[in-house]
Amino acid sequence: MYDKGTRKLYQSIFNRFNEIEDHLSANKAGTDIAKVNAAAGIAPVVVHEDTFTVTEAALRYAESSGGAFDPTIGPLVQLWNIGFNDAHVPAQQEIDYTLPLVDFRDLQLNSEQSSIYLPRLGMKLDLGAITKGYAADEAVRIAREAKSPRGVINLGGNVYAFGVKKDGSPWNIGIKDPLEEDSIVGIAEVRNKTIVTSGVYERFFEADGMRYHHILSPVDGYPARTGLLSTTIIADRSLDGDALSTAVFVLGYERGHQLIESIPGIDAIFVFEDMSIRGTAGVIESFTLTNELFRVRK
Ligand code: ADP
Ligand code: MG
Repeated sequence: MYDKGTRKLYQSIFNRFNEIEDHLSANKAGTDIAKVNAAAGIAPVVVHEDTFTVTEAALRYAESSGGAFDPTIGPLVQLWNIGFNDAHVPAQQEIDYTLPLVDFRDLQLNSEQSSIYLPRLGMKLDLGAITKGYAADEAVRIAREAKSPRGVINLGGNVYAFGVKKDGSPWNIGIKDPLEEDSIVGIAEVRNKTIVTSGVYERFFEADGMRYHHILSPVDGYPARTGLLSTTIIADRSLDGDALSTAVFVLGYERGHQLIESIPGIDAIFVFEDMSIRGTAGVIESFTLTNELFRVRK
């Protein structure tokens, strides 16, 4: 939704989304990611600028999160296949066999050649945790270039509220209730920021009374369980917000909070399994709780 949004503007944004998907999707044939994965253990692949930029950023976040966020998570994502009909809990043996293939430290990037190399057979890139953020940033860039003064874009978990409202007041952005569809826990006030949420509700399956969601721990190979239902990042770039919301979800509150505090200009909201909510100083003051099932904790 854009102020002064024209058909032409929407068209160019959707064209750009298609382009990004054609380069970065891990689930589509012929993309750069499919090519890099097919050439694992064989040869580096020269990739489009989009792919290189996003992979480079992903590697940086893998490093700063100590591997909680890992773009080489592909083999594990495919093993679980969460979000598809045949999702099931893998045998421990399968997890043990797959885990060694996940290691961002092996990922080789060559910026002169714009090439990416996965040195071991069976390694796979998956940029699903960061691509939507990149796409949101691109949409905002295109809208700004078209002189759109303000707007809110929503890519499902990645919201960008750009510009300032006509009366100068901040945007009110609802933070999703991780337990209830079409419900929110509260409202955050932002100006010209992106709000990105990762949570247990986005994609999951249930087996034996357990819920298995799609954010995986590269340490034990299971859906990350750190007492959190969701993590929300407020940032200037949706790429950063997307990578960090996933990273922090995997890290859990203590280490996640530490990571966020170490980066200037980034805020976070944590929703816990015990229905409490905590946030960094920059956001919690302007946060309004709207859902009485939850409570804000210092
Ligand atoms: P969503 O896709 O729901 O917006 P995320 O941004 O958190 O949520 O991305 C989740 C996706 O990222 C998964 O579907 C998978 O493709 C990938 N992924 C899962 N675990 C990790 C991880 N530890 N590091 C990097 N990517 C991950
Ligand atoms: Mg993410």
